[in-house]
Amino acid sequence: MARRQIHVSIDRLRGQRDEPAPRPQKLPSDDRACPTCASTFRAEEMRHNLNVCAACGYHWPVGGRERVAQLSDDGAYDELWTELRAADPLRFVDIQPYPRRVEAAEAKGTTEALVCADARIGGRPCVIAVMDFSFLGGSMGSVVGEKFARACERAADRGVPLVTVSASGGARMQEGVLALMQMAKTIVGFEVLRDAGVPVIVVLAHPTTGGVWASFASVGDVTYAEPGALIAFSGPRVIEQTTREKLPEDFGRAESQLSNGHVDAVVDRRELSGRIGRLLGILEQPPPATASLAMSLAQNGTERAARMAQALPSIPRRLRQRVLGGEPPADGGPR
Ligand SMILES: [Zn+2]
Repeated sequence: MARRQIHVSIDRLRGQRDEPAPRPQKLPSDDRACPTCASTFRAEEMRHNLNVCAACGYHWPVGGRERVAQLSDDGAYDELWTELRAADPLRFVDIQPYPRRVEAAEAKGTTEALVCADARIGGRPCVIAVMDFSFLGGSMGSVVGEKFARACERAADRGVPLVTVSASGGARMQEGVLALMQMAKTIVGFEVLRDAGVPVIVVLAHPTTGGVWASFASVGDVTYAEPGALIAFSGPRVIEQTTREKLPEDFGRAESQLSNGHVDAVVDRRELSGRIGRLLGILEQPPPATASLAMSLAQNGTERAARMAQALPSIPRRLRQRVLGGEPPADGGPR
């Protein structure tokens, strides 16, 4: 049997050696598996389903701009005050300086933990202010407070509702007491809206905790929450460690806050925009018309009572005088 000659090319071997080893087939990095039911979705499916698991309804976190686009008609909005940047008045350093943390957060594409925009929901104009948990845990610092206050003033000036979505770990510790002051500032913003007769719709997303829950997030005119969202001042783990007591499974969750009366409704994210649009339509009814309707009903009631008083001579004169007006009875009749 003839031997077959084998040609070995060193160059070819070298070339092969330089080539990267074939990688195992891997799913695209934007595929995500549901932490509850392990269903996997492509990025396009996730976008179409507004980052909600189509199998079990688990709600993934949503970035600020993405959320504004989800709520707005046709995803169109005009973002406001993107030029505002956090200062570092305390020169705060933990394991790294505060400005470096802000830079790292900005590198992900958002300028702060609150995104404000002019938009329309259900065809009705409104101002939207959405917190972004991916920016330093959605913490409320001086820029968040300033943008929120400006959003309130803008809504009041334009006479349009404010729609806000909270997702926050609380006040930003790197700004110390300046961050805590934003709690009062946001409440003053709500007072401005109340004086202007402008409604506020608050949507509580996961998680809404600390100084944000203890300020504007808990005082909306209408309050919705997303399913499963943690809504509490302190998280259950912190409370359990402090009190050494076991808390119920559903502690602070949207559903338990609904049963406790802190939330008006738990609304699936896929229904949120439509629900808010319908609500804005109801709230759009001009108050003067409602007031005049109430006045006319009251007036009709008075006139009807007066007619009845005239028709019933047995009614004491003093009472008849009170109803009909005019001079009191001169004969000192029955009282
Ligand atoms: Zn799922």
